Amino acid sequence: MRFDVLTLFPQMFEAVLGDSIIGRARENGLIELNFIDIRDFSANKHRKVDDYPYSGGGGMLMNAQPVFDAYMSVAEGLDYKPLTIYMSPQGKVFGQSVALELSKEEHIVILCGHYEGIDQRVIDEIVDMELSIGDFVLTGGEIPAMAVIDTVSRLVPNVLAAETSYENESHFNGLLEYPQYTRPAEWHGVSIPDVLISGHHANIEKWKHEQSLINTLKKRPDMLEKAELSQEDTEFLSKFINGEQ
Ligand code: SAM
Repeated sequence: MRFDVLTLFPQMFEAVLGDSIIGRARENGLIELNFIDIRDFSANKHRKVDDYPYSGGGGMLMNAQPVFDAYMSVAEGLDYKPLTIYMSPQGKVFGQSVALELSKEEHIVILCGHYEGIDQRVIDEIVDMELSIGDFVLTGGEIPAMAVIDTVSRLVPNVLAAETSYENESHFNGLLEYPQYTRPAEWHGVSIPDVLISGHHANIEKWKHEQSLINTLKKRPDMLEKAELSQEDTEFLSKFINGEQ
Protein backbone atom coordinates (compact mmCIF):
# COMPACT_ATOMS: atom_id res chain seq x y z
CA MET A 1 0.00 0.00 0.00
CA ARG A 2 1.29 3.42 -0.91
CA PHE A 3 0.84 6.75 0.91
CA ASP A 4 1.98 10.09 -0.48
CA VAL A 5 1.89 12.85 2.11
CA LEU A 6 1.76 16.47 0.96
CA THR A 7 3.17 18.60 3.76
CA LEU A 8 5.18 21.68 4.61
CA PHE A 9 7.07 19.65 7.24
CA PRO A 10 8.24 16.35 5.69
CA GLN A 11 11.05 16.04 8.24
CA MET A 12 8.50 15.48 11.03
CA PHE A 13 7.47 12.06 9.76
CA GLU A 14 10.52 9.79 9.84
CA ALA A 15 10.94 9.94 13.61
CA VAL A 16 7.47 8.46 14.04
CA LEU A 17 7.07 6.24 11.00
CA GLY A 18 10.68 5.16 10.45
CA ASP A 19 10.96 2.55 13.21
CA SER A 20 9.10 -0.29 14.85
CA ILE A 21 6.25 -2.05 13.08
CA ILE A 22 5.72 0.55 10.36
CA GLY A 23 9.47 0.86 9.75
CA ARG A 24 9.67 -2.92 9.25
CA ALA A 25 6.61 -2.92 6.97
CA ARG A 26 8.36 -0.31 4.82
CA GLU A 27 11.57 -2.33 4.71
CA ASN A 28 9.57 -5.40 3.68
CA GLY A 29 7.85 -3.49 0.89
CA LEU A 30 4.37 -3.83 2.42
CA ILE A 31 4.01 -0.08 2.92
CA GLU A 32 5.48 2.69 0.78
CA LEU A 33 5.59 6.16 2.30
CA ASN A 34 6.60 9.27 0.36
CA PHE A 35 6.73 12.71 1.91
CA ILE A 36 6.34 15.54 -0.58
CA ASP A 37 7.43 19.02 0.46
CA ILE A 38 4.76 21.46 -0.76
CA ARG A 39 7.32 24.25 -0.50
CA ASP A 40 9.30 22.64 -3.35
CA PHE A 41 6.38 23.59 -5.59
CA SER A 42 6.17 27.26 -4.61
CA ALA A 43 6.27 29.59 -7.60
CA ASN A 44 7.68 32.26 -5.27
CA LYS A 45 11.43 32.83 -5.27
CA HIS A 46 11.42 32.87 -1.45
CA ARG A 47 9.53 29.54 -1.41
CA LYS A 48 6.54 31.29 0.16
CA VAL A 49 3.40 29.11 0.26
CA ASP A 50 0.90 31.20 2.21
CA ASP A 51 -0.94 34.51 2.07
CA TYR A 52 -3.53 36.56 3.94
CA PRO A 53 -7.13 35.31 3.73
CA TYR A 54 -9.53 37.61 1.81
CA SER A 55 -11.95 37.26 4.72
CA GLY A 56 -9.48 39.02 6.98
CA GLY A 57 -8.90 37.88 10.55
CA GLY A 58 -5.59 36.70 11.89
CA GLY A 59 -3.39 34.06 10.37
CA MET A 60 -2.28 32.93 6.96
CA LEU A 61 -3.76 30.52 4.47
CA MET A 62 -1.86 28.07 2.28
CA ASN A 63 -2.03 29.01 -1.42
CA ALA A 64 -3.82 26.75 -3.86
CA GLN A 65 -1.04 26.66 -6.50
CA PRO A 66 1.80 24.90 -4.60
CA VAL A 67 -0.65 22.43 -3.06
CA PHE A 68 -2.09 21.63 -6.49
CA ASP A 69 1.33 21.27 -8.10
CA ALA A 70 2.54 19.02 -5.27
CA TYR A 71 -0.57 16.88 -5.77
CA MET A 72 -0.02 16.75 -9.54
CA SER A 73 3.57 15.60 -8.99
CA VAL A 74 1.99 12.45 -7.56
CA ALA A 75 -1.20 12.13 -9.64
CA GLU A 76 0.14 13.04 -13.07
CA GLY A 77 0.71 10.00 -15.23
CA LEU A 78 -1.42 7.67 -13.12
CA ASP A 79 -4.32 6.01 -14.91
CA TYR A 80 -6.49 6.34 -11.76
CA LYS A 81 -7.20 9.03 -9.18
CA PRO A 82 -5.54 8.18 -5.85
CA LEU A 83 -7.92 8.59 -2.92
CA THR A 84 -7.03 12.04 -1.63
CA ILE A 85 -7.66 12.85 2.00
CA TYR A 86 -7.40 16.29 3.58
CA MET A 87 -6.68 16.12 7.31
CA SER A 88 -9.10 18.68 8.73
CA PRO A 89 -10.95 19.39 11.98
CA GLN A 90 -14.02 19.78 9.75
CA GLY A 91 -13.82 16.20 8.43
CA LYS A 92 -15.53 12.97 9.30
CA VAL A 93 -14.13 11.72 12.60
CA PHE A 94 -11.54 9.00 12.04
CA GLY A 95 -12.07 5.64 13.76
CA GLN A 96 -11.24 1.96 13.44
CA SER A 97 -14.01 1.25 10.91
CA VAL A 98 -12.79 4.06 8.63
CA ALA A 99 -9.24 2.74 9.06
CA LEU A 100 -10.34 -0.75 8.01
CA GLU A 101 -11.96 0.65 4.85
CA LEU A 102 -8.85 2.70 4.04
CA SER A 103 -6.59 -0.32 4.53
CA LYS A 104 -8.20 -1.83 1.40
CA GLU A 105 -7.00 1.08 -0.78
CA GLU A 106 -3.85 0.67 -2.83
CA HIS A 107 -2.83 4.32 -2.94
CA ILE A 108 -3.76 7.22 -0.67
CA VAL A 109 -2.63 10.84 -0.87
CA ILE A 110 -2.83 12.74 2.42
CA LEU A 111 -2.86 16.52 2.40
CA CYS A 112 -1.73 18.26 5.59
CA GLY A 113 -2.81 21.83 6.17
CA HIS A 114 -1.04 24.37 8.35
CA TYR A 115 -1.61 27.93 9.60
CA GLU A 116 -5.31 28.75 9.15
CA GLY A 117 -5.77 26.02 6.57
CA ILE A 118 -5.81 25.86 2.77
CA ASP A 119 -7.49 27.88 0.00
CA GLN A 120 -10.87 26.19 -0.48
CA ARG A 121 -10.56 26.03 -4.27
CA VAL A 122 -7.77 23.45 -4.26
CA ILE A 123 -9.56 21.41 -1.60
CA ASP A 124 -12.64 21.35 -3.84
CA GLU A 125 -10.55 20.33 -6.83
CA ILE A 126 -8.42 17.48 -5.49
CA VAL A 127 -9.83 16.20 -2.18
CA ASP A 128 -12.13 13.16 -2.01
CA MET A 129 -12.51 12.97 1.75
CA GLU A 130 -11.85 15.15 4.80
CA LEU A 131 -10.81 13.32 7.94
CA SER A 132 -10.56 14.67 11.47
CA ILE A 133 -8.87 12.94 14.39
CA GLY A 134 -11.26 14.55 16.86
CA ASP A 135 -13.17 17.66 17.77
CA PHE A 136 -10.18 19.82 18.58
CA VAL A 137 -7.81 21.93 16.49
CA LEU A 138 -4.12 21.15 16.06
CA THR A 139 -1.46 23.40 14.55
CA GLY A 140 -1.13 21.26 11.46
CA GLY A 141 -2.26 18.11 9.72
CA GLU A 142 1.03 16.27 10.26
CA ILE A 143 0.21 14.61 13.61
CA PRO A 144 -3.27 13.62 12.35
CA ALA A 145 -1.70 12.21 9.16
CA MET A 146 0.77 10.15 11.21
CA ALA A 147 -2.10 8.80 13.32
CA VAL A 148 -4.01 7.79 10.19
CA ILE A 149 -0.99 6.20 8.46
CA ASP A 150 0.00 4.26 11.57
CA THR A 151 -3.55 3.02 12.24
CA VAL A 152 -4.28 2.07 8.62
CA SER A 153 -0.88 0.46 7.99
CA ARG A 154 -1.16 -2.02 10.85
CA LEU A 155 -4.40 -3.29 9.30
CA VAL A 156 -2.71 -4.06 5.99
CA PRO A 157 -2.23 -7.85 5.65
CA ASN A 158 1.10 -9.14 7.02
CA VAL A 159 2.12 -5.83 8.63
CA LEU A 160 1.43 -7.19 12.11
CA ALA A 161 3.26 -10.35 13.10
CA ALA A 162 1.20 -13.49 12.43
CA GLU A 163 0.54 -14.11 16.13
CA THR A 164 -0.76 -10.56 16.67
CA SER A 165 -4.37 -10.14 15.75
CA TYR A 166 -6.11 -6.81 15.53
CA GLU A 167 -9.50 -8.56 15.57
CA ASN A 168 -9.26 -8.89 19.37
CA GLU A 169 -8.19 -5.32 19.89
CA SER A 170 -10.28 -2.44 21.15
CA HIS A 171 -12.76 -0.97 18.66
CA PHE A 172 -12.57 -3.80 16.12
CA ASN A 173 -15.94 -5.26 17.09
CA GLY A 174 -17.35 -2.22 18.85
CA LEU A 175 -15.94 -3.27 22.25
CA LEU A 176 -12.80 -2.52 24.23
CA GLU A 177 -10.18 -5.22 24.71
CA TYR A 178 -10.05 -7.38 27.86
CA PRO A 179 -7.30 -6.72 30.48
CA GLN A 180 -4.00 -8.48 29.77
CA TYR A 181 -1.25 -9.81 32.03
CA THR A 182 2.31 -11.04 31.56
CA ARG A 183 4.88 -12.69 33.82
CA PRO A 184 5.19 -12.94 36.79
CA ALA A 185 1.88 -14.60 37.66
CA GLU A 186 1.91 -12.73 40.97
CA TRP A 187 3.08 -9.14 41.31
CA HIS A 188 2.68 -6.78 44.31
CA GLY A 189 0.56 -9.48 45.92
CA VAL A 190 -1.88 -9.54 42.99
CA SER A 191 -2.33 -12.80 41.09
CA ILE A 192 -3.52 -13.09 37.54
CA PRO A 193 -7.01 -14.59 37.07
CA ASP A 194 -6.86 -18.41 37.55
CA VAL A 195 -8.62 -19.11 34.27
CA LEU A 196 -5.63 -17.79 32.31
CA ILE A 197 -3.42 -20.61 33.58
CA SER A 198 -6.15 -23.23 33.46
CA GLY A 199 -5.22 -24.37 29.95
CA HIS A 200 -8.95 -24.54 29.18
CA HIS A 201 -9.17 -22.77 25.85
CA ALA A 202 -12.95 -22.34 25.73
CA ASN A 203 -13.10 -20.93 29.26
CA ILE A 204 -10.27 -18.52 28.46
CA GLU A 205 -12.12 -17.29 25.36
CA LYS A 206 -15.34 -16.88 27.40
CA TRP A 207 -13.44 -14.96 30.09
CA LYS A 208 -11.88 -12.66 27.49
CA HIS A 209 -15.23 -11.86 25.94
CA GLU A 210 -16.91 -11.21 29.29
CA GLN A 211 -14.02 -9.01 30.43
CA SER A 212 -14.27 -7.13 27.18
CA LEU A 213 -17.96 -6.45 27.87
CA ILE A 214 -17.20 -5.35 31.45
CA ASN A 215 -14.31 -3.12 30.36
CA THR A 216 -16.51 -1.41 27.78
CA LEU A 217 -19.34 -0.98 30.26
CA LYS A 218 -17.00 0.63 32.79
CA LYS A 219 -14.92 2.81 30.46
CA ARG A 220 -17.07 3.51 27.40
CA PRO A 221 -20.73 2.69 28.07
CA ASP A 222 -21.64 4.81 25.03
CA MET A 223 -20.02 2.14 22.82
CA LEU A 224 -22.38 -0.56 24.09
CA GLU A 225 -25.33 1.30 22.60
CA LYS A 226 -23.87 0.79 19.11
CA ALA A 227 -22.21 -2.61 19.59
CA GLU A 228 -23.83 -5.71 18.12
CA LEU A 229 -24.50 -7.61 21.33
CA SER A 230 -25.93 -11.12 21.42
CA GLN A 231 -28.76 -11.98 23.80
CA GLU A 232 -26.16 -13.78 25.95
CA ASP A 233 -24.06 -10.62 26.10
CA THR A 234 -27.05 -8.51 27.15
CA GLU A 235 -27.99 -11.04 29.82
CA PHE A 236 -24.41 -11.20 31.08
CA LEU A 237 -24.22 -7.40 31.32
CA SER A 238 -27.53 -7.04 33.14
CA LYS A 239 -26.43 -9.71 35.65
CA PHE A 240 -23.12 -7.89 36.07
CA ILE A 241 -24.89 -4.57 36.65
CA ASN A 242 -27.16 -6.23 39.22
CA GLY A 243 -24.08 -7.65 40.99
CA GLU A 244 -24.94 -11.25 40.08
CA GLN A 245 -21.67 -11.90 38.19
N1 SAM B 1 -8.99 27.23 10.43
C1 SAM B 1 -9.25 25.83 10.43
C2 SAM B 1 -10.65 25.57 10.94
O1 SAM B 1 -11.09 26.28 11.83
O2 SAM B 1 -11.29 24.59 10.50
C3 SAM B 1 -8.23 25.09 11.30
C4 SAM B 1 -6.86 25.10 10.74
S1 SAM B 1 -5.72 24.19 11.70
C5 SAM B 1 -5.04 25.40 12.77
C6 SAM B 1 -4.40 23.89 10.59
C7 SAM B 1 -4.40 22.51 9.97
O3 SAM B 1 -4.27 21.54 10.96
C8 SAM B 1 -5.64 22.13 9.20
O4 SAM B 1 -5.58 22.62 7.88
C9 SAM B 1 -5.60 20.63 9.24
O5 SAM B 1 -4.83 20.09 8.20
C10 SAM B 1 -4.91 20.35 10.57
N2 SAM B 1 -5.82 19.94 11.67
C11 SAM B 1 -6.11 20.67 12.76
N3 SAM B 1 -6.94 20.03 13.57
C12 SAM B 1 -7.18 18.84 13.00
C13 SAM B 1 -7.97 17.70 13.37
N4 SAM B 1 -8.70 17.69 14.49
N5 SAM B 1 -7.97 16.65 12.54
C14 SAM B 1 -7.26 16.64 11.41
N6 SAM B 1 -6.50 17.69 11.00
C15 SAM B 1 -6.46 18.77 11.78
